[in-house]
Amino acid sequence: APAAEVLLDVDGATKTFGGLVAVNNITFEVRSGEILGLLGPNGAGKSTTFNLVTGVAQPTRGEIRLEGKRIDRLPPRLISSLGVARTFQHVKLVPDMTVLENVAIGAHLRTGAGFVAGLLRANRTEEQAIFQEAARNLDRIGLGDEMHQLAGNLSLGSSRLVEIARALCLSPKLLLLDEPAAGLRRFEKEKLARLLQGLRAEGMSILLVEHDMEFVMGLTDRIVVLDFGTKLAEGAPVEIQNNPAVQEAYLGG
Ligand code: ADP
Ligand code: MG
Repeated sequence: APAAEVLLDVDGATKTFGGLVAVNNITFEVRSGEILGLLGPNGAGKSTTFNLVTGVAQPTRGEIRLEGKRIDRLPPRLISSLGVARTFQHVKLVPDMTVLENVAIGAHLRTGAGFVAGLLRANRTEEQAIFQEAARNLDRIGLGDEMHQLAGNLSLGSSRLVEIARALCLSPKLLLLDEPAAGLRRFEKEKLARLLQGLRAEGMSILLVEHDMEFVMGLTDRIVVLDFGTKLAEGAPVEIQNNPAVQEAYLGG
């Protein structure tokens, strides 16, 4: 079979903070329509890798390419407008805005305008379209009924799902999720897994950092393991599970 198309290409990326090498010459690719797991003990460099891909940090060495074009010197807003969306390890909803408004921020980010500037500039029709898309994405994650609640009233699990709805308003080609299952109850994890499978079926690529091994092993197509900033292993979930170096890194870490 022909190799799947490469969407994201992390090519020898290194990131140092003073004397600390957070990410050390890592190379991997994310293919179109796959869920790639990014695993590793605490401090392995997973969040730093997300920051490099989203332009929040710039690599000290190496290149990052989206659809073959370099993105590693572009500002975060431009990278997101090219189709890269993320959620954060710690929930970043505005607690005293409604769930719907929190999600609508995502649609505004796509236009490159800030939320308030976007609302001031948007005409009524555009504004309606933005809120409709936000509502559609909330329905999709199963929280349509909660859209007029204040975000601060939501459970942690629901808040994480709302963050994903917000990211979906960017219509991303690549979705980066930093520990989306953390703090979710079992039925919420199952809902999340079905959502991600649906997105993959539509051709979206997902880069997933997650500590819940059952969740990761059941969902990912391939896995890259980092340890102390370097790539320790790469392969199918079953290969990773049976890899002695990976087992050692987790037991030793
Ligand atoms: P992970 O997400 O895998 O737990 P991180 O990418 O957050 O790991 O961190 C990797 C290493 O880089 C850690 O040692 C961390 O302390 C360090 N680090 C991350 N961000 C910064 C920063 N902004 N300044 C200094 N050190 C950092
Ligand atoms: Mg992290």
